[in-house]
Amino acid sequence: MGSESKEVLESAPLGSLTGTVVAVQANYYSVRLNSENAEQFVLLCTRRSLLKKIGQRVMVGDRVLVEEPDWTQMRGVVSQVLPRRSELDRPPIANADQILLVFAMAEPTIEPYQLSRFLVKAESTEIDVCLCLSKSDLATAEEKDHWWKRLSEWGYEPLFISVKQAIGLTKIQHRLNQKITIVSGPSGVGKSSLINQLIPMLDIRVGAVSGKLAKGRHTTRHVELFELPLGGLLADTPGFNQPDVDYAPEELANYFPEIQERLAIARCQFNDCSHRDEPGCVVRGDWERYEHYLDFLGEAIDYQTQLNQQADPDAVMKLKSKGKGEAKYEPRLDTKKYRQESRRTRQQSLQSLKNDIDRLMKTDQDEE
Ligand code: GDP
Ligand code: ZN
Repeated sequence: MGSESKEVLESAPLGSLTGTVVAVQANYYSVRLNSENAEQFVLLCTRRSLLKKIGQRVMVGDRVLVEEPDWTQMRGVVSQVLPRRSELDRPPIANADQILLVFAMAEPTIEPYQLSRFLVKAESTEIDVCLCLSKSDLATAEEKDHWWKRLSEWGYEPLFISVKQAIGLTKIQHRLNQKITIVSGPSGVGKSSLINQLIPMLDIRVGAVSGKLAKGRHTTRHVELFELPLGGLLADTPGFNQPDVDYAPEELANYFPEIQERLAIARCQFNDCSHRDEPGCVVRGDWERYEHYLDFLGEAIDYQTQLNQQADPDAVMKLKSKGKGEAKYEPRLDTKKYRQESRRTRQQSLQSLKNDIDRLMKTDQDEE
């Protein structure tokens, strides 16, 4: 059994049922079957106990093989998870193709710093980002022009839309077609309005379960994929709507297109330049979001310091003297490795693994 379970499937064997997990609740998976196999059926599935035992997680967005379909009860069993194109932990979602970041032209007005924070958070997933400016009916041509130019400097081409006046919706539909898209953005910008506009059936489908879509959405880590009429899936999730800094300081530069552009034509004197006060830095300079970069860098360093503290209270951080008698924090560059090597952390995760296995074995027995 061991060797078989480790086999990696690149695609589904001929004739087997495949589908996409559209919702996960406790140990149940709603799997929408691919249309080649069947009509657009959704089967409520459990997963093979073998998958549990080898610790194979089944996430929303996963493409899976389904066995033992029971067409009268609409039940089935997830037997394999196909390889993932992408994987996000928070919110937990597999195979997302892009993040649709929504900000409003007015009500609420764009806060550049907040927008920057959302953009950086989205970039940190390494999933494509599509920026959308909603409520364009409330903006003048000059305002739109201003933001278009300003955001191109940031490295983005915003898509202007208005649900109210049906502007830009075809373009958005085109962008979402056949893809798994995570919708993100602060509250009040019109995300629900847009989703309801794109999926008119949704109110009906969701209505039975949770009433208005907006409710409960901000109170849970629940992720669900909604099917677009023309094909493709939308993930509406609170997980992204309060972006926190949870990346390593040395990664931050990758999340600013402006920095990448500068580094593509010239190199900093030091390979590990933090683009703060090092000599021969080609990134430091007079560009709008440089201040944001410095702020987020500070936060990322604090975040890493915290992680290090949790891993080992004795080795909090390395203090680096700055010459002028001032001290500054220097990020540890090996946080991930460091965390893996901490015996305490390892024991904790072993214990939780053991608890998980105990729980799963018990569930298995209960199921039989
Ligand atoms: P969410 O919190 O991001 O999901 O935002 P909602 O979809 O709940 O919308 C917040 C408010 O913005 C509501 O009062 C909507 O009617 C309004 N709204 C949404 N889209 C538009 C639009 O295109 N134009 C205008 N003027 N208002 C809109
Ligand atoms: Zn530099």
